[in-house]
Amino acid sequence: MTSLAPGWQQIVGHEWAVRLLSNAIAHDRAGHAYLITGPDHVGKMTLARTFAQALNCTAAPEARPCGQCRACGLIAADKHPDVRAITPDVSERGAQSIKIESIRRLQQDLSLTAYEARYKVALLRRFDTANPNAANAFLKTLEEPPNNVILLLTANDADTLLPTINSRCRTVGLRPIPTALIEETLMTHHHAKPAEANLLAHLADGRLGWAIRAHREPALLQERQTQLEALHKVLGGTVVARFAQAEALARKADALPPLLRTWLSWWRDLALLAYGRRTADSISNIDEVELLYELAGQWPRGGVLAALRQTEAALRQLRQNANARLVLENVMLTYPRRA
Ligand SMILES: [Zn+2]
Repeated sequence: MTSLAPGWQQIVGHEWAVRLLSNAIAHDRAGHAYLITGPDHVGKMTLARTFAQALNCTAAPEARPCGQCRACGLIAADKHPDVRAITPDVSERGAQSIKIESIRRLQQDLSLTAYEARYKVALLRRFDTANPNAANAFLKTLEEPPNNVILLLTANDADTLLPTINSRCRTVGLRPIPTALIEETLMTHHHAKPAEANLLAHLADGRLGWAIRAHREPALLQERQTQLEALHKVLGGTVVARFAQAEALARKADALPPLLRTWLSWWRDLALLAYGRRTADSISNIDEVELLYELAGQWPRGGVLAALRQTEAALRQLRQNANARLVLENVMLTYPRRA
């Protein structure tokens, strides 16, 4: 096994994906389109950018990507003239979508010869958010890509793409990386303190990018703390108190999906403990472990599962523009009460 170039070595985890892509370049067998899938912040764009660097790095072939040359630097900063990134537009309500206008601009750009690079590379982030017009327009490029063009798509889930898109790409599926690896990376490369690294690594659910972001932006953990305090209050409250809380929370509609996602993660941990599927060390909300254990022994499993399901349903209903207060009231009526 040959040793990897410096740029590839920067990638934490995902060893087989790194091997696959670095070998493709080493043997001059790079495909013209790749689909990199995996959850948010798991490392899809980092892998795609590193691949783009390897394709266009100006160092000696065995040292590509070097991470040092002008091309590598420009690609890392998303400023290389021959490496185009398409990201979804975000609506006022936070919905993401790639529109046909972006695809048309990209196609025009790809039809021109590269300025300075060996390959023109298009990075299409979250292509699963492309609307049908955009996806269909892009099919033409996938079917007949211009010479020396490499298309790198990312998506949370390959199954949500048109099969015609899927079948024309080589798929690279990224999985969550081990908690211990995230913990170690936070301490050695990001100067996180051991306790913080441990908590963030567990909360990250295998997504290093999320853990790094939470380390840099302490507000994320503070927000989670507030969300958990609200949950604790619900669990100890009477129906009257819960309804008053639902009314207050419903006034900040934008904050509800993240709030419910934090609650969902907590219920998932509780359900896993209640059903004996996990040990304390492998849950996400590791700082809540004592309370979770206590409640797992106290509440009927069916009640825990119902609370989990209702929280999932609430997130779905909010996406469908349901009345926020009613959604929250239903959630709170389902949650068991703490003795
Ligand atoms: Zn380089």
